[in-house]
Amino acid sequence: MPKEFEILLYYLYVDIQDPESFASSQRRLCEENEIMGRIIISHEGINGTVSGKKEATAEYKKQTLEDLGTDRMQFKVDLSDGHAFKKLSVKVRPEIVSLHLDSQSDINPNNQTGERLAPEEFLSEMENGDVIVFDGRNKYESDLGKFKGAVCPPVNNFREFPEWIRENFSHAKGKRVLTYCTGGIRCEKLSGFLLDEGFKSVAQLDGGIINYSKNSNTKGKNFDGECYVFDQRVGVKVNSNNPKVISKCIHCDQPSQRYRNCAWKPCNDQIFICDSCEEEFGKFCGEECRGSCTKLSP
Ligand SMILES: [Zn+2]
Ligand SMILES: [Zn+2]
Repeated sequence: MPKEFEILLYYLYVDIQDPESFASSQRRLCEENEIMGRIIISHEGINGTVSGKKEATAEYKKQTLEDLGTDRMQFKVDLSDGHAFKKLSVKVRPEIVSLHLDSQSDINPNNQTGERLAPEEFLSEMENGDVIVFDGRNKYESDLGKFKGAVCPPVNNFREFPEWIRENFSHAKGKRVLTYCTGGIRCEKLSGFLLDEGFKSVAQLDGGIINYSKNSNTKGKNFDGECYVFDQRVGVKVNSNNPKVISKCIHCDQPSQRYRNCAWKPCNDQIFICDSCEEEFGKFCGEECRGSCTKLSP
């Protein structure tokens, strides 16, 4: 059976005069076309990931570009057997990704952002240049997969980057820094922030890991593990060139990319657990959660 659904990932920094009414028209457009997913609208732009039948996503793409009055926005497209989301959420927020800088030091990526590198350029610099590769995502994302040798800050939220960088990464100001994230949006602000902080040479992977994985020249080379995505797939394959699994089963320590949530609901921690260990021990992050859960259900 041919795959009849598409999963879209997209963003654009663009002035939106009336975010509330733009959000209403997005909501209507999605409902009319049975599109599900998450969309964030702000004065500074739009950031979304949605799924729907091919005819529906085609209509969604066309109408959204028309409403924005631009064709600058690129949609990254994956095929799928069904929806990747269970519901639709369209929200208005102050930022399309929250770095929470105060208004004076906030970054407008249309004015200040790092140089954009195509996948081939990123790979070439990574392999031949004197560079630091910097992961602009959270720890639970880089735990599932990351570029070889990348600096992966132990942050749980994008807002924690400014402080972490000031305290732990200032020594790299004289070096060339290459940033990357899932689809490119976080690097737009992150690379601008690094420049603002006095980093001399900052570049970003254009279109992020997703674009890099689809490029026929790079084929995801030097990305270990899978790319964390914010839909029901959790992880997607990146590297068809020199792949390697980096995550390990929490019980047996064998390589495993099975990402699951701890079955003890108050915990709900994301863990790697292999098939056979889940069967044997249950889907828990440890003894404590298994104990709490069995106490409740005799
Ligand atoms: Zn195991
Ligand atoms: Zn747990």
